[in-house]
Amino acid sequence: MTSTQYVVIGGVAAGMSAASRIRKHDPGASVVVLEKGAYISYSACSMPYYIANPEARLEDLIVLSADEARHKRKIDVRLGHEATRIDTAERLVHFVQHPSGREGSVRYDRLIIATGASAFVPSVEGAEGPNVYTLRSLRDGQAIREAIDTGEVRRAVILGAGYVGMEMCEALVARGVATTLISARSAPMMGYHTELVRTMMAELETHGVRFMGDQQVKTINSRGVQLTDSFVEADMVIVAKGIRPNVSLADDAGIRLGEKGAIAVDQRMETSLAGVFAAGDCAESVHRVTNRRVYVPLGTVANKHGRVAGLNAARVGTRFPGVISSAELKCFDLEIARTGMTPDEAEQEGFDPVEVHITASSAAHGYPERHPIQVAMVADRGTGRLLGAQMVGKAGVAHRINIVAAAVFNGNTIDEFAMFDLAYAPPFSPVWDPVLVAANVLQGKLRR
Ligand SMILES: Cc1cc2nc3c(=O)[nH]c(=O)nc-3n(C[C@H](O)[C@H](O)[C@H](O)COP(=O)(O)OP(=O)(O)OC[C@H]3O[C@@H](n4cnc5c(N)ncnc54)[C@H](O)[C@@H]3O)c2cc1C
Repeated sequence: MTSTQYVVIGGVAAGMSAASRIRKHDPGASVVVLEKGAYISYSACSMPYYIANPEARLEDLIVLSADEARHKRKIDVRLGHEATRIDTAERLVHFVQHPSGREGSVRYDRLIIATGASAFVPSVEGAEGPNVYTLRSLRDGQAIREAIDTGEVRRAVILGAGYVGMEMCEALVARGVATTLISARSAPMMGYHTELVRTMMAELETHGVRFMGDQQVKTINSRGVQLTDSFVEADMVIVAKGIRPNVSLADDAGIRLGEKGAIAVDQRMETSLAGVFAAGDCAESVHRVTNRRVYVPLGTVANKHGRVAGLNAARVGTRFPGVISSAELKCFDLEIARTGMTPDEAEQEGFDPVEVHITASSAAHGYPERHPIQVAMVADRGTGRLLGAQMVGKAGVAHRINIVAAAVFNGNTIDEFAMFDLAYAPPFSPVWDPVLVAANVLQGKLRR
């Protein structure tokens, strides 16, 4: 019997997770990974910290090198190979090699598309200029770091106040760069509770970041950014206005896209074409609470997508259980986190959301080091189901959000959650943990 030939397009979180699972469960198979870039399997999420720290090395971000994958895992990683077309009739992936331009093709029995996403750059004049950067690939991170290392970047503008924009504020300030954060919206971190956003804005101000909201960028040039009513000088402009899934290969091959624009998949991560799977930032997910298709491009999700796609490709049946949009970040001394739905999202999905906002302490009374934690929590009035939470604080937020994530994931009601048996000791929480305090207040509000 001939062995199965698997081809994976894209070699970062989703692609390498899939390739590794296939190798483990189909040891005799041939596994080819086509990666157009120069690296596989790196931590994109750590790039802001690499930029912030002049001592950090690019190699430290690489989890598994191409050589290690080839020799230790027997995965045929081909760097500089850009897939250009999928011929579904002949089961071939055509590619072009960089920089030689040589063309070729590879046959597949089972295919995994893990092409990720690309940074979105709005079409304004000057957006292609040499002082304009995005942060998506390792090369992007390297380019930003090298520019800062010259010592010539004294002022920077970040366009977009989401996760990457907020993390880059900290990185740039750490490098002594005067930073202006510009958003088309009135406040950073869309969807967060206004009180939590107020705390985030205060943190930015404390660290010298100027926030400019409700701004439209007209043009960008080598001296800075022209807004509707003012000009902001900058040696570097970082565009952090979100991403778009890389779906053209799949689309051109006739693979169905979902309503969010990413590749449509079933719970086995199989696309509309049998034997072709998709995973990571190029693919959609199902929301665990609403059962609707959503696009949640995160590293946590990409790794799990890849694992599930790889297992199913290797005929080890498993299902992706869905996402609940859990995410977190650090911005200077603040931990910022969310899980589940916001009240607006819940309302759009037909729930009757009830929300509370509380402030509690990260540690017990009398314990010397304590910090306030703000919790906004939402539940459905009709069913009492816990729908989500957001948190901000200087300590104890990033891990604590995962308690709520577990409850939302499992479909717990607020009554069940309010009595969760959480561990307690004074350095780590008050006897009523902040998430339980929020749950108890929410319980009361639901009963009113
Ligand atoms: C600065 C930053 C911070 C982040 N922080 C977090 C965080 O804290 N937590 C979190 O959960 N997530 C975070 N993320 C998101 C996370 O990094 C992504 O969700 C994850 O990298 C997605 O992995 P992926 O494999 O799906 O796609 P990608 O990482 O985009 O990789 C896709 C790969 O496919 C290759 N490719 C594309 N097209 C082709 C082709 N035609 N032929 C061959 N190869 C191709 C690309 O070169 C690329 O290497 C962050 C992202 C960034 C940029």
